[in-house]
Amino acid sequence: MHVTRRDVARGIASAAAAAALPRPLFAQGAARIVVIGGGFGGASCARKLRQLDPGLQVTLVEPNQVFTACPFSNEVIAGLRALPKQQFTYDKTAAAGVTVISQAATKIDTQARTVTLTDSASLGYDRLVLAPGIDLRFDALPGYDEAAAASMPHGWKAGEQTMLLRKQIETMADGGTFVLAVPAAPLRCPPAPYERASLIAHYLKNRKPRSKVLILDAKDGFSQQKLFEAAWKELYPGMVERIALSQGGRVVSVDAGTNTLVTDFGSYKADVASVIPPQKAGRIAEIAGVADNTGWCPIDPVTFGSKLQPDVHVIGDACIAGQLPKSASAAHAQGKACAAAIVNMMSGRTPEQPRLTGACYNTVEPGYAFSLSGVYQPRDGQFAEVESATSPVNAPREERRREAERAENWFKTITEDIFG
Ligand SMILES: Cc1cc2nc3c(=O)[nH]c(=O)nc-3n(C[C@H](O)[C@H](O)[C@H](O)COP(=O)(O)OP(=O)(O)OC[C@H]3O[C@@H](n4cnc5c(N)ncnc54)[C@H](O)[C@@H]3O)c2cc1C
Repeated sequence: MHVTRRDVARGIASAAAAAALPRPLFAQGAARIVVIGGGFGGASCARKLRQLDPGLQVTLVEPNQVFTACPFSNEVIAGLRALPKQQFTYDKTAAAGVTVISQAATKIDTQARTVTLTDSASLGYDRLVLAPGIDLRFDALPGYDEAAAASMPHGWKAGEQTMLLRKQIETMADGGTFVLAVPAAPLRCPPAPYERASLIAHYLKNRKPRSKVLILDAKDGFSQQKLFEAAWKELYPGMVERIALSQGGRVVSVDAGTNTLVTDFGSYKADVASVIPPQKAGRIAEIAGVADNTGWCPIDPVTFGSKLQPDVHVIGDACIAGQLPKSASAAHAQGKACAAAIVNMMSGRTPEQPRLTGACYNTVEPGYAFSLSGVYQPRDGQFAEVESATSPVNAPREERRREAERAENWFKTITEDIFG
């Protein structure tokens, strides 16, 4: 069931949703769960809710009719993959009985328990799930605002930005310097900047071998550092350089007019620059009053319930999830666990302690990948890593090839589970 802006305005959305309900959960009618954000977290949660209890009235609010996934978008930038392979519709979500509303949520009243949409229509809820992903802090890095992002793309939300960076890399002259600015933690997908540097190096090595990749980093250490550094040495000797925080790598301002990045110790003029700015939970989280002064949303790790507002749950990149990294893998697992917790709570049962698994693959050239996986459980009010495994630094190339295959399979499986 796909519901348009006009349908909502006419009230067809709720009528159609009600008609789809096989049985009421509450005496006074079916319980209404509204999920905001149809990405890895929200779309997983909406579908799982209907699967666990087909009596629930589940509505997914998402402005885009086509979702563009970030995992594997670095391959698109490096010309190894076409953007449509990253794109998914909500047809199957709707077929599963979720009412999909193609609008953004603009306001949330947690007292009245209503969500206002772009066209001013209002939706009531019994429980609300927020999964808005991230927003970029355009006020955090002097010189880097939305206009600057049009010439120094972040590519941290996939789609237009991905293609913009792709085009810039394609038109860069041989001998040029690609500069990547990496922010301090927390950020969406901590290893993805280094995967981007690797895959762009792969493209340049083959097409523009006199070029360089320079990473200006606001961190000293990073996820899977030894694996990345060994791969750069082996695959791209002399091509990839990284300046860490303690060496003066933190970018403190940019000038989009001259493509210049300024650090504490110097300025760097780029031929192409990708600036990943600091991030925060999607803006609607702030509007709902579920984000704290860090910009992220504190939650109870058992129920994903907001610590700041009743009857609101927050999942995915937007929430503060302890050692669980901000990844598609984690958002997917959280979406399902949150759905289970909501169904249990609404039936008067105690929610179970979630045990979430996450896997993160990084590709450094086609057929060469490594991974990090973990198991996470609530401990002292946060998610703690209870098991983890990382690819060995000295694995044979055959193992890297198998990891690349597993990465492809992971993406296929997760997107099939959510959108297929
Ligand atoms: C380059 C790159 C590579 C990555 N690679 C990997 C990887 O290999 N593996 C991995 O596990 N993770 C990877 N990630 C991370 C992954 O993309 C995110 O962690 C994941 O998308 C988080 O899911 P989410 O549901 O929280 O947010 P998203 O998937 O971003 O979904 C949020 C949705 O909310 C919607 N939304 C926002 N505001 C509103 C509103 N007001 N009303 C309605 N809807 C709204 C948005 O339109 C969006 O569709 C990568 C990220 C990047 C940038």
